[in-house]
Amino acid sequence: MDEELSWQAVQERDASRDGDFYYGVLTTGVYCRPSCPSRRPLRKNVRFYATPAAAEADGLRACKRCRPLENRADRRTVVRIEQLCRYIEAHAQDTLPLEALAQRVHLSPFHLQRQFKAVTGVSPKQYVDACRLRALRQGLRGGSSVTRAIHDAGFGSASRVYERAATRLGMTPRQYRAGGAGVAISWAVSRTPLGLLMMGASDRGLCFVQFGDSEAALQQQLRSEYPEAVLEPMGDAQRAPFQDWMRALAAHIEGQPPARQLPLDLRGTAFQMKVWAYLQQIPNGELRSYTEVAEAIGSPRAVRAVASACAANRVALLVPCHRVIRGDGSLGGYKWGLERKRTLIDRERAAKAGD
Ligand SMILES: [Zn+2]
Repeated sequence: MDEELSWQAVQERDASRDGDFYYGVLTTGVYCRPSCPSRRPLRKNVRFYATPAAAEADGLRACKRCRPLENRADRRTVVRIEQLCRYIEAHAQDTLPLEALAQRVHLSPFHLQRQFKAVTGVSPKQYVDACRLRALRQGLRGGSSVTRAIHDAGFGSASRVYERAATRLGMTPRQYRAGGAGVAISWAVSRTPLGLLMMGASDRGLCFVQFGDSEAALQQQLRSEYPEAVLEPMGDAQRAPFQDWMRALAAHIEGQPPARQLPLDLRGTAFQMKVWAYLQQIPNGELRSYTEVAEAIGSPRAVRAVASACAANRVALLVPCHRVIRGDGSLGGYKWGLERKRTLIDRERAAKAGD
């Protein structure tokens, strides 16, 4: 919330901002809408809140003049919606259609949408998704197989998780950055048509997919990319999903469609995350130049930074940095050797031509 703009709206009694935020006056213990007709408080006594619930949690009560709860959600509705939140948390693994949720609180779906958002700041669907992602993380941490954890958490299919993975599951660059402090990564090595491949997974998904010449070299690489993480060989509980993932990647290397359903745990700067997200959208069998990628992500002058982000990729194949080449058609670089890059490009092209 931009406090400067909010304060300006309060001073102007800007009714168009009503519902966007509330302001509380610490000296009177009351919170108001921006448009409240009461006398303007002193700036130093004012605090801003995104929702009435947040203001109430801070011990403030609704103003009797501007009635911040009225027309949006009265007190009883706030309580009902809070109860609905508890219900969603306990039943996140079930299907929760909006109509059914609305019936539980005796509101129309339309009013539930509006009032849920007014009270919590998010839509019911966003709230359900957040609960499911939390359950998924817990399931993965508890050692369930990924497929199992995805279904137990209430997601109908792995692809729905994948859609969110880039933005929700993996997007904690500020919390983690590189290094992986406090993260446990289990790893396994397998032979593929392009040489030894190591996969490393955190509780969120794959964070390391790389080729190497020997297991020792791969372990060293993993250690250098996640110096702070706890590394351990994959345990029995994870063996089955790992084998599934390995099979999917081996098939991809042979030219099959890419294994899109695998959960990823990407960690990087905001810019790197942007580049990697774009790379995942380049269709199988197509190529882009570094310049095209820079333009596509809205940073046309950051061509070199795009190349660096490709070089910093830790998840081969799934973040297909091999699909980016120089504008003159030459291959440019590849972290795992130009021979592998050429092979991957050729196989994906051949597979596309065969479609
Ligand atoms: Zn007021």
